[in-house]
Amino acid sequence: MLTLSELANTVRRARVVKGHAEVSPEYRGWNFERPPVRPPAYLGLALSDFAYGYCPTGRSLYLKYVAGERPTPTRPLVEGSILHGVLFRAMEDFKKHVYSGSQSVSGLEGVPEEYAAKAQALYRYVLARYMGELHYVRASGLARGRDSAVWHVVPMHVQVPVDGSVLGLSRAVVDAVGLGAVVEFKFGPAPNVDVALAGYAMALEAEYGVPVDLGIAVHVTVDGEVHYRAQAHPLDDAARRRFIEARDEAIDIVESGRDPGTPPKCPRQCPFYPACHADSGG
Ligand code: SF4
Repeated sequence: MLTLSELANTVRRARVVKGHAEVSPEYRGWNFERPPVRPPAYLGLALSDFAYGYCPTGRSLYLKYVAGERPTPTRPLVEGSILHGVLFRAMEDFKKHVYSGSQSVSGLEGVPEEYAAKAQALYRYVLARYMGELHYVRASGLARGRDSAVWHVVPMHVQVPVDGSVLGLSRAVVDAVGLGAVVEFKFGPAPNVDVALAGYAMALEAEYGVPVDLGIAVHVTVDGEVHYRAQAHPLDDAARRRFIEARDEAIDIVESGRDPGTPPKCPRQCPFYPACHADSGG
């Protein structure tokens, strides 16, 4: 699942096919003290609450931050969260195995029974994929030691915390960072994923002062079998502008306390659906 050769191919292909991301200095995250990167207010909003644009009008922000409504977790959201956790455990267990020879299998601890089949399929697939790649890099002499073996197989730091406060955001956890790209794993629909990736990249730039010009969304499906597809998104001015627009609109909704109302059609899997459509029987 995104081994070094896969990640490098994705980065290289993006550079050839889509070109280098054009990023003007004023859109770098480290310019957080000046507009347009400087936020209109520091409200500590969660990036995932607005960047993906799941709620077409932004009413979810009003409900969560102004009205104090609690989201009702829907099955796809719960499943996505569980599968994310299982993926990270598989990555960690693999690294533990290489560094210490540990055979411990923590993959399914705490996973509710109804999600166990998919969780098990994902965990087994990821470990089998990594073990196969490990044999290859060792047999071909690519890995000189344990650390380089891990880097060839899982060339990413995962669950990287980043302080988004200077951008008006809360503390966030980026799924992964590798080869200078920011990576998000998605187990369901991910509209506007480039906007979210631009936000994460700008938060990383603000905190660590290094440019992050490429985002990679890895779309994973687990349905008996596991399939994944890595899609590259150059994080150019346009993507960054869209992130800033979404952030400023979100801040405006929360700061003003205005209710933007419901759109003509709402996705049934929205965690606020019962709050917005109580009259329709939830
Ligand atoms: S139910 Fe509709 S209006 Fe309410 S938060 Fe969800 S998408 Fe937005």
